[in-house]
Amino acid sequence: MRKPIIAGNWKMFKTISEAKTLASEIVEGVKGVEGAEIVICPPFTALSEVSKVIKNSNVILGAQNMHWEKEGAYTGEISRNFLFDIGCQYVIIGHSERRQYFGETNKTCNLKVKSALEFGLKPILCVGETLAERESGKTFEIVENHLKGGLKEIPPEKMKCVVIAYEPVWAIGTGKTATPEQAEEVQKYIRKLVAEIYSEKIAEEIRIQYGGSVKPENIKDLMAQPDIDGALVGGASLKAETFVKIVRFNL
Ligand code: PEP
Repeated sequence: MRKPIIAGNWKMFKTISEAKTLASEIVEGVKGVEGAEIVICPPFTALSEVSKVIKNSNVILGAQNMHWEKEGAYTGEISRNFLFDIGCQYVIIGHSERRQYFGETNKTCNLKVKSALEFGLKPILCVGETLAERESGKTFEIVENHLKGGLKEIPPEKMKCVVIAYEPVWAIGTGKTATPEQAEEVQKYIRKLVAEIYSEKIAEEIRIQYGGSVKPENIKDLMAQPDIDGALVGGASLKAETFVKIVRFNL
């Protein structure tokens, strides 16, 4: 039985004080929830303070990106060691905004996934097609490319720490959610690919989130799909009320 994982990606929003307020409202709102893993990914600057706010709660800390090296002359970068030190357990890798605006490639995603796993951080590897790619019938090809590229040389024993997020780029921040059937078609395909690359057992165990305009109004139908094991939530994770409703979708 896969435990659902609901993660909030706060992107480049929230000052430290705003982040502390939001985190404490979320902690309050999800008290007692045991059926899902709840992760919040504030910006780097707020990680340390948010880490203190969520201590001893059922909310877990994640980051939005990392560098693959432990340390070095990489001005402006943040290493996995720093994230671990601050209390992060998860790190989002290869978000489409990073692929689109910051030159993230399958190669860099793969280096980051490997590095995170080596250090005990759990990667949430994002995969997904743009609208143009979907309209030209390339959805499966792109998703396969992102998945195989990101997971290259990741050994089977590490796969229990990996989460995949299927995020169709056309549904991110646009208000256009993939229908549960559209999402399920690709989520199922991702699970089939994991079975081919690794094994049926690993495919059965791996958690695959859906991301793209997830809201309290659509989470239930999305989560009813057999291959959707949670959500990566952007906009709706910036307000405690909506994020808590998403986490509590089945209560
Ligand atoms: C995201 O940032 O990963 C995301 C899915 O954003 P939104 O929920 O706003 O579409």
